[in-house]
Amino acid sequence: MRILCPDGSEKEVDECIECSKCYPKIITKMLLGGRNKKRKKRDKPRYGVTRLVGGCLRRTYYDLTEDVARTLDKMWIFTRGTAIHEMVQKDMPPEDIELFLDAPFATCSAIGFVDALHDGVLYEFKTTANIPETPQEAHILQAQAYYSMLTDAQRAKVKKIQVIYFSMHKIRAFDIVPRNVLPYLEARGTILTNAIKTGVAPKREESYLCRLCDFKDICYGHKSATHVPDQPVKVEKPAQSTLL
Ligand code: SF4
Repeated sequence: MRILCPDGSEKEVDECIECSKCYPKIITKMLLGGRNKKRKKRDKPRYGVTRLVGGCLRRTYYDLTEDVARTLDKMWIFTRGTAIHEMVQKDMPPEDIELFLDAPFATCSAIGFVDALHDGVLYEFKTTANIPETPQEAHILQAQAYYSMLTDAQRAKVKKIQVIYFSMHKIRAFDIVPRNVLPYLEARGTILTNAIKTGVAPKREESYLCRLCDFKDICYGHKSATHVPDQPVKVEKPAQSTLL
């Protein structure tokens, strides 16, 4: 990961911490701690559920293949979200939080961590500037994806699924209908795997989020993509994408 400085230059994480002109070093370290991990190369790719359900798959493709610098302000949004999660989870037994799930498919796997499965409720926590009137589609799908990825024994314990939004002023919980979305995850994962292999980005899924997208310049051709596919091109047929 690289950091975009206010003067427009870009720095590696360690250089940014060393510089620390924007904030005291202790704050820069807090924002960037553990952010310079390298992705492991695997025979079969593994995608986090949030990458598969989070709106635009083209954006996910660029996020996996392009090294776009991020501002420290953006890192504060991520760090603050993690801190609120930890605050909510702190009184739950360790075995009820951050449950790792893995759904293997033919061409890839979907992986994820459930925020909490506690007292019969599967929780997905979201920090946000403004609490929505209804839960966002991507958040509904994320919670349903985790539900679908549980073992039968774990799923038998789930009486309710909830997405809980935390803003600076309010908290609001929404009940989510359980649904098997594994075919949808597999279809999205297959499209992504093919795109990475061939170097051809998935089609645009335009929305109001485009204006906040880190990759809009590449997406609309104002900047060139750098990704060069390193595997022989072999296009696989996407799985059925219908939501069950
Ligand atoms: S600009 Fe919009 S369509 Fe393009 S990658 Fe970003 S979110 Fe997707």
